[in-house]
Amino acid sequence: MGWPVAHSRSPVIHNHWIAQYGLRGTYALLPVQPDKLTDAIRGLPALGFAGCNITIPHKVNAMAMMDVVHPVAQRMGAINTIVVQADGSLHGVNNDGFGYIQSLRDAKPDWRADTGPALVLGAGGAARAVVLSLLDEGAPEVRLVNRTRSKADDLAALGDRVKVYDWRERNDAMAGVALLVNTTNQGMHGQPGLDVQLDALPASALVSDAIYIPLETPLLAAARARGHTTVNGLGMLLNQARPAFHAWFGVMPEITPALHQAIAATF
Ligand code: NAP
Repeated sequence: MGWPVAHSRSPVIHNHWIAQYGLRGTYALLPVQPDKLTDAIRGLPALGFAGCNITIPHKVNAMAMMDVVHPVAQRMGAINTIVVQADGSLHGVNNDGFGYIQSLRDAKPDWRADTGPALVLGAGGAARAVVLSLLDEGAPEVRLVNRTRSKADDLAALGDRVKVYDWRERNDAMAGVALLVNTTNQGMHGQPGLDVQLDALPASALVSDAIYIPLETPLLAAARARGHTTVNGLGMLLNQARPAFHAWFGVMPEITPALHQAIAATF
């Protein structure tokens, strides 16, 4: 459920797994206007849904309609998945942070959050999941930079290891970091590239982008040219889908080359 949802790659992922595991069912896109959200969510059990994903702009508002909100989602202040229980009650969970961390491990199996500071660009919904998961994984410091400083200041309430810098300090804040993450929409299809210079970034830093359309943003291309290991947002999307599928269908699905091919065919 989202508004709009037409761009979503989630049907490709879940319908691929439904076919692979021989399950009866389908994953459908549900465009739901914000003022119809309560009715749509309350209708899920009666319509026979195992659950659904929740995306922009409903991630925060949908929480109020849950019977149970799991602790991680509670701390994130947003849900990305609803699971309809056998008794018809609705559980809200958020797997975005899990998906993000797992995407780094898939790209770099020995990756550890405690290697050094992380710099997160952006302070929207994706940033909240990334910052919280990095703190939970033991990042010693999370530097946060957002065009609108007040939103970064709000996110800093997540923990005292979060340090907010002004947007104009974004390039200098790269000094000494082990991880650079873009969670802004800059570099996304139809948007200009992110306005940053990587000169101060240590050669060993991992560079990741939450964006997956395109798979290689200008930021990731510039980082790759400097020799950094890069991680695009597709891994986050695929990995957040795994626990959701498991909760709905009782099977923990695998991310296979065939799934990657199915996604690639949609670009
Ligand atoms: P959001 O809540 O709307 O936040 C957008 C962020 O982009 C804000 O920090 C905003 O800064 C910043 N921004 C917008 N225009 C900017 C500009 N011209 N210069 C600098 N910063 C700018 O969106 P979101 O849900 O966090 O999503 C952000 C990105 O992450 C999107 O590209 C989305 O596709 C991606 N994402 C990926 C996944 C995944 O699974 N891979 C999951 C979620 C999101 P201000 O506060 O100053 O407006």
